[in-house]
Amino acid sequence: MVPNPRLNRRSLLSYGAIAGASLLMQPQSWAANLAQLPPYKGSNVILIRFGGGVRRRETIDPDHTYAPFLRHVLTKQGTLFTQMELDQIEGVTTSHGEGTLYLLTGKYGGFINSGDFRDRFESQVPTLFEYLRKNFAVKDHEVLLINGEDRTAEEFFSFSNHHLFGVNYRCQVLSLYRFKVYRLRQQIEAGYFQGQELQQKTKELQKLESLDYRNQGRYVYTSPLSQFWDEWQQYYSDSGLVNPRGDRVLTELAVWALQRLRPKFLMVNYNDSDYVHWGFPAHYTNGIAIIDRGIQRIFETVAADAEYRDNTTFCIVPDCGRDSNQFLSVPFQHHFNSPSAHEIFALFVGKGIKNNQIVEKKVSQIDVAPTLAQLMGFKADYAEGKVLEEVFV
Ligand SMILES: [Zn+2]
Repeated sequence: MVPNPRLNRRSLLSYGAIAGASLLMQPQSWAANLAQLPPYKGSNVILIRFGGGVRRRETIDPDHTYAPFLRHVLTKQGTLFTQMELDQIEGVTTSHGEGTLYLLTGKYGGFINSGDFRDRFESQVPTLFEYLRKNFAVKDHEVLLINGEDRTAEEFFSFSNHHLFGVNYRCQVLSLYRFKVYRLRQQIEAGYFQGQELQQKTKELQKLESLDYRNQGRYVYTSPLSQFWDEWQQYYSDSGLVNPRGDRVLTELAVWALQRLRPKFLMVNYNDSDYVHWGFPAHYTNGIAIIDRGIQRIFETVAADAEYRDNTTFCIVPDCGRDSNQFLSVPFQHHFNSPSAHEIFALFVGKGIKNNQIVEKKVSQIDVAPTLAQLMGFKADYAEGKVLEEVFV
């Protein structure tokens, strides 16, 4: 590397100090910093985790699919990788938290288990959310992760602990958990409860907020988000409607988010197919169908919106596969690192993507992050996968 004559030792030292200080940056200087970044001009990206682990057979196999929109409609408009895998190497685990982080970081095993709970992972390398916000002037509510209510641990994939990235570059999270915390705090502060009930509700709030261990109770709902949850509350409570549950609520949140928060990068963590762990095959196939309808609804929302139409790219990819154990009555009940649990797929559709293309070569789940990075106009420096050049027009 040729040394830059303008960077003497002193400026290098102060650069180091600035990098360290950025972790503690105050909102004002943070806003000034953001203003210096170039505006984001790439296409909007919607990353859909076809999750809770699914096999190729019930998703992309045209004769056995429970996801007709994905397989028969969207595939014609994009590039489908039928042989993507979580590589069969030591240390790669075919499960939800792990697969999600492989997708977000482009690296296997770039995280630590950070607590007593399973799936409480902290990434040590930056996530796509952070790269995007470090490179462009994108506000936190314009980078969103939509998460299920049963998997609170995955809420905290919104930032890594990498010293050059981290919490200042995190995305915002939308989930029923976030809504519950927001609403309860609001009610307590408005004097809604008295006496014993107040004590009980305060305890409840503390318990909920303690789940958010990475923010240590400092999670801030910025004003677009407060407005978002106020509207959600008015709609679902005042109208007497009950909000949808399971993955249907993720679809609903995604549609609301597109219409109100106008994200540049949105990730939806679908999960319903995973309920088959209980042993009922219909949970699996119904879950896939629910996710497929959700994808269709998000796709139609984008198509009906002048700003998003023709300026959005979708990537649909599972967190992991599932077993194919013929000795069990439900062969796909679990995902225990069997070869089939490593087998997934990826479909890219939309702006900048070649249409009606099926690629049958073996590719890796960690190739998704560098590919999306290239599409958004930055390099995922800490990713170890390769850019899937075939997708680009
Ligand atoms: Zn599972």
